[in-house]
This record gives sequence, C-alpha cells and structure tokens, in this order.
Amino acid sequence: MRNAVVGKIFLILLIAGFGYGYYYLDSNLMIERDKPTIKIAQKLYWNLKDSLEVEIEDEGGIRFIKASIFEENGKETTLTQEIFRESKKTFNLKIVPPKVGFFPRSGKARLQIEVVDNSLWNLLQGNRAISKTLIYIDTVKPQIKPLVNSYSVTKGGVGFVIFGVKDKRLKKLYIETNYGKKFYPVKFYKKGYFASLVAWPIDKKEFKATIVAIDKANNTTRERVRFYIKNRKYRESTITLNSKFLAGKIKDLAMQYKKDFEVHNEIQNFAFVNEELRETDEKRIHKKSLKRGELFIKEFNIKSFYPLKNGAAVASFGDHRYYKFNNKIISESYHLGLDLASIKNADIKTSNDGTVVYAGKSGIYGKSLIINHGLGVHSLYSHCNEFLVELDEKVKAGQVIAKSGKTGLALGDHLHFGILVQGIEVRPAEWMDKAWIRKNITSIINGAKYMIDNGKDNF
Ligand SMILES: [Zn+2]
Repeated sequence: MRNAVVGKIFLILLIAGFGYGYYYLDSNLMIERDKPTIKIAQKLYWNLKDSLEVEIEDEGGIRFIKASIFEENGKETTLTQEIFRESKKTFNLKIVPPKVGFFPRSGKARLQIEVVDNSLWNLLQGNRAISKTLIYIDTVKPQIKPLVNSYSVTKGGVGFVIFGVKDKRLKKLYIETNYGKKFYPVKFYKKGYFASLVAWPIDKKEFKATIVAIDKANNTTRERVRFYIKNRKYRESTITLNSKFLAGKIKDLAMQYKKDFEVHNEIQNFAFVNEELRETDEKRIHKKSLKRGELFIKEFNIKSFYPLKNGAAVASFGDHRYYKFNNKIISESYHLGLDLASIKNADIKTSNDGTVVYAGKSGIYGKSLIINHGLGVHSLYSHCNEFLVELDEKVKAGQVIAKSGKTGLALGDHLHFGILVQGIEVRPAEWMDKAWIRKNITSIINGAKYMIDNGKDNF
C-alpha cells in the first residue's frame, strides 16, 4: 500500500519532470521493484526436438523477453526475442529448437533468458531478470535389445520378456500394452538388462506389448515384443438365482455394504453385490498386488502352486457367469480365480516364499490373503476361515498360511485361489503347471543369462 502511494507521487513527479513526452503513460504504470520470475530448472536435458516451455510472470507486466544459447566456446545464438506492445502479467514462452545442424548434437550449453518488466524503476528501464540454465544436449535415442521372450501368450495368461537397454540417462522404462496397462520391469542379472512379466487380461480381445524407453531429454524408443498370440475360449454359464440364496449370503452382504439397503429389493441387492461390491473388491485386490518385489533379480525360482491338498476344482478361472431371475438375465460377472474344495477348515499352503501384502476382509472375497512372490507375481487366497500369518510377514514355501472357510460370497467351504501379475488376474493353471513354468520362466531366464554371459546378445 505504502509502495503504491510512493509510486503515485513518484509518477506525478516524473510526469511533471519529463514534460509532455510522458503524457500518454496510463495508470497501469508503476514503479514496482519486483523482478519478473522465470520458471525454469537450473539444469535440463534437451533433445533439440521438443520445444522448451517456460512460464514467465510479472505483477506489473512483461515488456521484453530474450532467450539465447551460449555454447561452450562462448558463441551466442538468439533463439527468440520479443517486445510486448501490450504488457502481459504471465507469458508462456515457447522456445522452438533450432534447425538441425545448428548446434552440436551433444554436449553442454547454457540457456539464458532475459526478461524486462514494465516498471519505471531503474530510470525507466524496468526490472530485469536473467535465468541461466545448464542444458545437456542429448539427441541419442535409447537402444532396446530384446533377448528372449516366451514364445506365446494365451488370453488370460502371462508372457515373459528379458531385454537390454542402453542409454546414459534413462528416465522411464516400461512395457506398454494395447489396453493401457503398463508393466514395470525389474533389473535383471547384469547392468543394462531387465525382465518383466506381462499379462493379457481375460476381458481384452487382443494383446500387444511394447517396450518403451525414455531418457531425460525425452528421446523415446519403442520396441514391440513378438509374442505368438493364443486365443482361448472360457466357459459361459447361466445360473438361476433362487430366493434362498438371495435371502441368505446376498442379503447379508448387501446389508453390510450397501448404503441404501432395503430388504425387499432382492434384485438390486444381488446386482449390487455381484457388480458394485465385486468391483470395489477387485480394485482393492489389484492395488494390493501392483508391486514387483525385489527390483533387482538374478534368479526367479518359482515353483508350481498347490495350495490345497486333494482340492477338487469346483469353478474355473475365467468362467463368464450370467445370472437369471424370473427368466430374465439380471447380472453377469467373470470368475477371476480357481475354486478348490476339500474338507472343511482345510490347511491352505503357499508353495513359494514371499511376503504377506494383504490380510483382511474384502466383501465378496471374504477373509483374504495376498502374498507377493517377486517379479510382480502375487497369490490370492479367499473365503478363508482363519489366517495363520499376518500382514508384512515373510512366509516360506510349504508353510500353512490359513484355514479354508466360506467367508464372503461362498456357499460351501472352499478356497478361491488367484494369481495376479502387477495387479492383473491371470490363469492360475499356468502357475500350477511345472511344465509351463519351466518353458515360460526358467528357460527364458537361463536363455537370457547364456546370451549375456557369452556375448550372444550383440549388445
Ligand atoms: Zn471363486
């Protein structure tokens, strides 16, 4: 406030002092002393392809902007220069890269941005701000070298790929799929090599996986992983709902979780449990099974899962269920695990070492455990009666981790066994099959190591 008053007095003095030449000056003019702000990092990487965007602000208005590059030998090149007839409080400066061949394709330079504001301070010259940014020019794209991958991926199943990446300043590395999900690899065996499992979800018609490597200067390389794609038909079935079921477990679950529960709305209660509650539970399960585990691996000795001794399969992974009531289909769902039943309160074992990442009650899944086994692989045990391990506990292969039960949406005592890879449910059958594991995991790891150790990777 005081500044503004002083400013006005100063302005009057100025006008009086400088005579008619300054009569056009309007009331926007100030004698403020704040420098413009230039929002730019002190250090950045430039691929000489993308424009650099810099936000500039000044309370009193921007009058002049200049951006130049100083090369290491001192040579200055002006990239852009602008004088504003109408002053702006904010300006998004876009620095377009110079033409090819103008600069060395690599090395260091300094980007200097100079901004002058509209103030009459400094004998009418305004406040001047200068930013200096160290620029690393990097126009070299990351190199991706696929080494070995599993030959095929089946719908609802898993693929495995090991590859090398070369770049001095790698920023991001992931495997992009056609359905939006990204899988993040772990470092594998020796420097510059990576491994990742990828999953083809059961509800997606197609599957494509592309390795994407991006460096700090945003140079990007994409390399498609060549999998042979195997379609697979899953069972469809129609289940007729009866009043006993609706008045039993469904009513109990709806009462527990549905906000506007009304006992006579049987169909809505069923749809709520089968759709909304299922979705909430699945989202929770996905979130709990996103992590990869160890971020550097030399081995991945996973054994086939056998969670329930003499367990008979009572429902399969991928069953597409339609629900009928009064001769009308009223809801549908996918069954994303394998249901196994033996005796009541049976021992549930994990077949691999791991860490318990979830132990809780999850809607239709009931009391559920999730164990992380590394490389993004998680096993899920649902409808348990009792847990014998706790959250964050390290478990050993063969350890009894829970007792089977019928918590959640289960009619009889059984185990709902699931496998998830970085948050995607996949066919447990693959992970219960020694031959599949040998062919798709073990031999890929051994093959990649052989190539790396014997220089057969040409990398
Ligand atoms: Zn189930």
